[in-house]
Amino acid sequence: MSAVVQDRETSIVNAAPKQLYINGEWRDARSGNTLEVHDPSTGKVLCRVADASVEDGWDALHAAEAAQGEMAAMAPRKRAEILMRAFELMHQRKDDLALLMTLEMGKPLAEAAGEVVYAAEFFRHFAEEATRIGGNYQTAPAGNARFLIRKEPVGPSILITPWNFPLAMGTRKIGPAIAAGCTSVLKPAAQTPLSMLALAGILEEAGVPAGVVNILVTSNSGGVMEPLIRSGIARKLSFTGSTAVGKILLEQCADKVLRTSMELGGNAAFVVFEDADLDKAVEGAMLAKMRNSGEACTAANRMFIHRSVISPFAQKLAERMGELKVGRGVDEGIHVGPMVDATQRDKVADLVDDAVGAGAEVLLGGEPEGGEGFFYPPTVLKDVPRSARMWSEEIFGPVAPLTPFDAEDEVVDLVNDTEYGLVNYVYTNDLTRALRVAESIESGMVGLNQGVVSNPAAPFGGIKESGLGREGGETGIEEFLETKYIGIAMD
Ligand code: NAP
Repeated sequence: MSAVVQDRETSIVNAAPKQLYINGEWRDARSGNTLEVHDPSTGKVLCRVADASVEDGWDALHAAEAAQGEMAAMAPRKRAEILMRAFELMHQRKDDLALLMTLEMGKPLAEAAGEVVYAAEFFRHFAEEATRIGGNYQTAPAGNARFLIRKEPVGPSILITPWNFPLAMGTRKIGPAIAAGCTSVLKPAAQTPLSMLALAGILEEAGVPAGVVNILVTSNSGGVMEPLIRSGIARKLSFTGSTAVGKILLEQCADKVLRTSMELGGNAAFVVFEDADLDKAVEGAMLAKMRNSGEACTAANRMFIHRSVISPFAQKLAERMGELKVGRGVDEGIHVGPMVDATQRDKVADLVDDAVGAGAEVLLGGEPEGGEGFFYPPTVLKDVPRSARMWSEEIFGPVAPLTPFDAEDEVVDLVNDTEYGLVNYVYTNDLTRALRVAESIESGMVGLNQGVVSNPAAPFGGIKESGLGREGGETGIEEFLETKYIGIAMD
């Protein structure tokens, strides 16, 4: 690595905020504790960040509670302007934000820059939504009363986000919360706090009043968040993460009947029918599988390819995946960064070993990379038996498992044979079949002849154990609004 590149990495990390952001102030944890943030491409410590305890958590929640009245009263146009300013600042700082994200999470710089743009888009989208919150005034059926129906902010909200999209999973919640007039306490994953703390600086600069957004980083997420959730001071929990943790949080929310939005795990199928355009299907598979090096809830986890085309499809996919360059995300020309940590890399390796042990054929990769960092190479497995664990567990890595199918009914049953229901992808040139299959598939989203569905203007979310509620689109803001009905006597 050249000295110039090393200097830029060091200066970006040195300049990044490392304190908690509570009530508009940057401060250390009350205990003085800090936690380590690592670079997954080297395994080395990047820096230390304030590590909140439950006392800091209460400070953050009380700040959000105190600011709620002011936020609810803020003119929608003003909320929109703050969000637009934050959108512009994110674009201005795109390169710095991307480098910081790559350093703490590992994804290649080009992908990190893409995430900054995607994340900022939630602010623009919800800036536009903020001024369109509707209501109704209508006559009761008997004619003797009027119904006045208005939308009000749900109140202080707790937002919890994962490490795989360190910025976008936050803006997808903060954007609609601000647009709806809600204050919040956001807890990013301890592995990737730097991006969210940098975003707090941008929000402050964009004019977000003190207490409206509070950022809490902690190495003790369960211990710090549970009392806050159970207190009932926050009226809403919006969570993105694993289904296992989502279930624990749903139980905690039941105590005070909090509104919940749950964006949980996925087990996406990628189906290629015999009439599909194979080249387009391969390019779609590259996106559905390799976006974020496979560390995405939307990642294609099970690839069902019609028996008549599985061999050419597998060969083309292995060729394309074999062209990808693995390495430190900050380096030029890298397509696949490291897994986020050793646990994640070892889990991917275990799932591959299990599938190979069960009889899968390795067309590419199949062994973790040695040396420093947590790398796993692009891997293509063919004829993965349906007994393999990877059919039911999220791989969360750059591994494409292929298996043949013969008939439409059979593949629809296979796609639906999972407790998850986030997204599935279907490739076919037969329009009637495309619609028939899309309607039969049990998931919140379907990609028809496209390998990416995420779009801030579309309703993102899952059914079954993939979650509750939708983020983005017209519905995203509704998650942070309550409906109030005022009955008015007219006689
Ligand atoms: P995770 O372990 O569930 O963690 C998600 C967040 O929850 C992190 O901030 C984590 O903090 C926190 N957390 C963990 N235990 C907690 C507890 N007991 N109480 C409160 N907070 C707690 O998930 P992950 O491994 O980071 O992320 C990967 C998962 O997220 C995958 O299953 C993926 O499919 C899912 N995901 C879903 C979507 C979607 O939109 N549906 C999007 C992205 C990711 P710490 O890590 O600091 O403990």
